[in-house]
Amino acid sequence: MKPLASLSLDLDNQWSYMKTHGDRGWESFPTYLPLVIPRVLDFLAARDLTISFFVVGQDAALEPNRAPLRSLADAGHEIGNHSFHHQPWLHLYSEAEIEAELAHAEEVIEAATGRRPIGFRGPGFSLSAATLRVLARRGYRYDASTFPTFLGPLARAYYFMTARMSPEERRKRAALFGTLREGLRPNHPYRWAFDEGEMIEIPVTTLPLLRAPIHVSYLLYLSLFSRRLALWYFKLALQSCVLTGTQPSLLLHPLDFLGGDDTADLGFFPAMQVPGAVKVDFVCQVLDVQHARSANRAALSVRSAAGLGS
Ligand SMILES: [Zn+2]
Repeated sequence: MKPLASLSLDLDNQWSYMKTHGDRGWESFPTYLPLVIPRVLDFLAARDLTISFFVVGQDAALEPNRAPLRSLADAGHEIGNHSFHHQPWLHLYSEAEIEAELAHAEEVIEAATGRRPIGFRGPGFSLSAATLRVLARRGYRYDASTFPTFLGPLARAYYFMTARMSPEERRKRAALFGTLREGLRPNHPYRWAFDEGEMIEIPVTTLPLLRAPIHVSYLLYLSLFSRRLALWYFKLALQSCVLTGTQPSLLLHPLDFLGGDDTADLGFFPAMQVPGAVKVDFVCQVLDVQHARSANRAALSVRSAAGLGS
């Protein structure tokens, strides 16, 4: 059987980055979805790729985002649930609060896209046993919230370094992007079993053994030092996936397609000084590495997360 790869994109919006970072102004929900979604759709259509988009309920509830979100479903992409409020401290919620959060998101996502999600990714990779139970009860087929890396605390330190937050805001973000223990979780898909039912877990793949991130935003950060190094690192990661029998689940973000020339308020995010067109060109090169492997014996073909889980 051919090893499969899946591609997903977490549709984090401008306001959710500002909110996690503790920046004022997020409360009016500034959006770049009408700009970035057509750009990403063109990119995927040119490569004949169908992927999974994890959509935030709050965005689906707002008029300017509805048509762009609908266009994702119309183009045949899978629509997943990425929570309603995009609070990376979702694991601090009670089970009843999680249930309400997910139900609210499902309702508005279905209203905007015509699709009811069967997959979930926690905001900021937030994960809890209560969330998994709620997902199983609500009939989800998979969760994709785990990110088995040792570098979560480093990413959190980076966010804290550049943010202005109250002690209360910092307390909520104490587990942002996870602890060192995340690095010990499995790196390939597996099953959760609960009284409420079974579900598949599809981790965001990290470099086998070393467990360093390989998602495109991280590669973009590496490319600030050397594009060749970043692409070499990604090739090494895919080869390691083939050798270890890991079907990679590769992660994209809107900011992989948007530069400082597209949005002015996210200067704190790594690689935002790079123009949008240069970023898109880099993502092309990354997916070409992926594609080049398909020509080899150890072929990787890209599917949506739901396809990988089935
Ligand atoms: Zn997110």
